[in-house]
Amino acid sequence: MTPQDYAHNFAQVKHRINQACLQANRDPNDVSLLAVSKTQPAAAVAAFIALGQRAFGENYLQDALPKIAVHPDATWHFIGPIQSNKTKPIAEHFDWVESVDRLKIAQRLSAQRPTDRAPLNILLQVNISQEESKSGFLPAELIAAAQEMALLPGLVIRGLMAIPAATDDMAAQRQAFAQMRVLFEQLQTTLPQHPIDTLSMGMSNDLEAAILEGATQIRIGTDLFGARVKS
Ligand SMILES: *Cc1c(COP(=O)(O)O)cnc(C)c1O
Repeated sequence: MTPQDYAHNFAQVKHRINQACLQANRDPNDVSLLAVSKTQPAAAVAAFIALGQRAFGENYLQDALPKIAVHPDATWHFIGPIQSNKTKPIAEHFDWVESVDRLKIAQRLSAQRPTDRAPLNILLQVNISQEESKSGFLPAELIAAAQEMALLPGLVIRGLMAIPAATDDMAAQRQAFAQMRVLFEQLQTTLPQHPIDTLSMGMSNDLEAAILEGATQIRIGTDLFGARVKS
């Protein structure tokens, strides 16, 4: 991939966002783009920073840390599964964690967030398609868990994240995203004192459906960076 390829992909993704917003009668400024740079080299991150991109998503701690060290002024979102023995470096190095899927992880992130940094922004991951293989809160347990997490001083709850079951059927994509939007609105009502402003849903294959159903952040890897580098 050359810098020209990245510029082309970036323009294409922005165009898709704009088209979906037009269809949804939404302001494109209300949909932020998270560039998912997992497995990609620091040079690829640099290319997107040069194009004006600021927010990057990473799934693997060891893969992310060198890139964060090179680009400390970008905004870094942890979006991968979290083992409890990795919470400390995650709390130290990231600005957001989108994949909080159990209370214990939230408690550890809160306790381990350095006091000289702003509270860690978190999203609660929801297993919206209720798949055995996926992590995340089940819809029925989400609100009670959020109420407990809202008491943790090192965190600020910003909203929800989901990875619905993969499907090419747009009606099915929209149905899962619409369920997320209902939960998001419930969360806003439950925690009126919290800045619940982020509904992170939609990836390369389903960003249009997500935007139509109210996503405020989409997470794009493949359609920006090309196929992932296998490690
Ligand atoms: C890899 C990943 C993405 C990006 O997926 P693409 O289909 O490559 O756009 C988004 N969100 C999460 C949580 C991911 O792990």
